[in-house]
Amino acid sequence: MLHPSRTIVIGAGVIGAAIALELQKRGRSVTLIDRDAPGRGASFGNMASIAVTEFMPASRPSVWKQIPGWLMDPEGPIAVRPSYMPRLVPWFWRFLKASQPSTLRELEAQGAALCHRALGDTQALLAELGASDEITQTGCLSLYANDADFRADRDHIEILERFGFAHEVLDAEALRALEPAITYSIQTAVLFPENRSLKDPYRYVLRIVERFEALGGKVLRDTVTGIERGAWVSGVRLEQAGVLECDELVLAAGAFTGRLAAEIGEPIPLETERGYHTQIMEPGVSLSHSIIWPARAFMVTPTAGGLRIGGTVEMAGLDAPPNWNRAKITVKRAKEALPDLQVVSATEWMGHRPAFPDTVPVMSASRTPGVFYATGHGHLGLTYAATTALLMGQLMSGETPALDLAPYSVTRF
Ligand SMILES: Cc1cc2nc3c(=O)[nH]c(=O)nc-3n(C[C@H](O)[C@H](O)[C@H](O)COP(=O)(O)OP(=O)(O)OC[C@H]3O[C@@H](n4cnc5c(N)ncnc54)[C@H](O)[C@@H]3O)c2cc1C
Repeated sequence: MLHPSRTIVIGAGVIGAAIALELQKRGRSVTLIDRDAPGRGASFGNMASIAVTEFMPASRPSVWKQIPGWLMDPEGPIAVRPSYMPRLVPWFWRFLKASQPSTLRELEAQGAALCHRALGDTQALLAELGASDEITQTGCLSLYANDADFRADRDHIEILERFGFAHEVLDAEALRALEPAITYSIQTAVLFPENRSLKDPYRYVLRIVERFEALGGKVLRDTVTGIERGAWVSGVRLEQAGVLECDELVLAAGAFTGRLAAEIGEPIPLETERGYHTQIMEPGVSLSHSIIWPARAFMVTPTAGGLRIGGTVEMAGLDAPPNWNRAKITVKRAKEALPDLQVVSATEWMGHRPAFPDTVPVMSASRTPGVFYATGHGHLGLTYAATTALLMGQLMSGETPALDLAPYSVTRF
């Protein structure tokens, strides 16, 4: 089959890099463009989790009913900068529409379909990169201080049961046998054995890019300022290098993809859910599983560079400076779970999760011939990257994708 030969992928995050590699393998001549070095966006500092048990729509009642209370709490898991509120109204309206019970059932199925593939596809990509040892074999533990905590997360577990994801309920003693560092006040935990983590998600992107270049792919560091098109896409305008021509273009610029979509006259409801991490080099405690405490809205992952603590959502747009207090709040919460945690030497980081209001990514042709989208992976971009690359490769090659891609189309907005 004939393919357009010159392909540009904008965005060398985990999504764009994985797609670039897939397309290069399929015989195209691919240029991967990023204004920064590869992997320095959201894909740099995420929580490293191949989080196949976390696909639930954020608009489900057990979440949105708590939002007003969270917003009133300065240390709550969601913060909205007051000056940004007016900009959020249309997005939030769509978020509420995505809370209809029948819509929720569809969104859950769409997330589950991706997550059923995600671990296997990630393992296959890692094997191809010669990096199978980059993924952990242990799972993730979800913590519940008491019955009320556990009941509050019941719908999450029920969705997992409905879609056949493995989990095991542990009492306090069994939990302590697995993770002695966790406080005695946690009464119940659930082990998700298929929810793995990578030792270093940034290194994953670098390995993908290395392989891409070894196969002849080109990486270009420049900022895309515009898209050239007539009846078909013809190129991108670059800040430094002028116009670079192409026959097809993939918009995979993470949370910044909305700006590129606006450039071709296709506004998409993409927001940034800003998130923070704190990486502690010598934490004084060790964990062999990643842990999540849903009621406290944080996660801790043991990574190659130390213990990474993160979570929470801040809605403040793409340009506002970070509020490092958000990172400090999660560390404070983590100390409730890990009483011996020490924070002597640590780094803080903020990144932009590209988020659609219905929690489902877009992997689709755009309305502009020759242009494709791969964005909006929200809290699960690392998890979905290998699967997204495979599906985009199939879609762009005219094959029948391994999953029906209709629900992930940009035309749903
Ligand atoms: C705190 C936090 C924790 C997370 N934890 C997890 C987790 O445990 N598991 C999981 O699966 N996901 C997690 N995520 C989500 C995940 O990190 C993202 O979904 C994923 O990294 C998005 O990848 P991306 O390639 O779409 O975007 P990015 O990695 O942000 O890459 C986009 C790239 O586009 C480039 N770009 C933008 N505009 C332009 C332009 N005009 N010209 C040129 N280049 C441009 C940027 O420089 C950037 O490198 C987390 C995110 C955060 C913030």
